[in-house]
Order: sequence, then C-alpha cells, then structure tokens
Amino acid sequence: MAEFCLDCWNEMNGTHYTPEQVVLEEDLCEGCGEWKPVVVGFRCNPLTTWFRELHSRLEYWAACRRGRKR
Ligand SMILES: [Zn+2]
Repeated sequence: MAEFCLDCWNEMNGTHYTPEQVVLEEDLCEGCGEWKPVVVGFRCNPLTTWFRELHSRLEYWAACRRGRKR
C-alpha cells in the first residue's frame, strides 16, 4: 500500500483531515518523497460509528420483539 503524508492525502482526496483524526506513522511519503508521518489509518470513521449505533438499536429492537413473543 502506498503511503502518503497528511498534506498529500488531503490534497489528493480534497479532504481536510486533521492529525487527530488519523493514525500516523513515520514513513516515506510517496507523494512528496519526504520522510514524515504518513496516514496509516483513521481513528473514527463516521460511517462505522453510524453503523454501530444503528446496529445497537436493531439489537434492542430485536430483543424487545423476542421478549414480547415469549
Ligand atoms: Zn507528502
């Protein structure tokens, strides 16, 4: 996987991620060719959070439904 620093990453994807939102690791950036912290992952994916919330609500709903049937 190609590694890119946060500056290159944001420039390439048109995003505005901050260092707090991503997981950084010292590596060679393939965008600017400099040795600096590169993006290796994301701390909080909004979609993941949304999905987890939805899933917990579904579980609650299913539990209520099962409870009523008994
Ligand atoms: Zn770079």
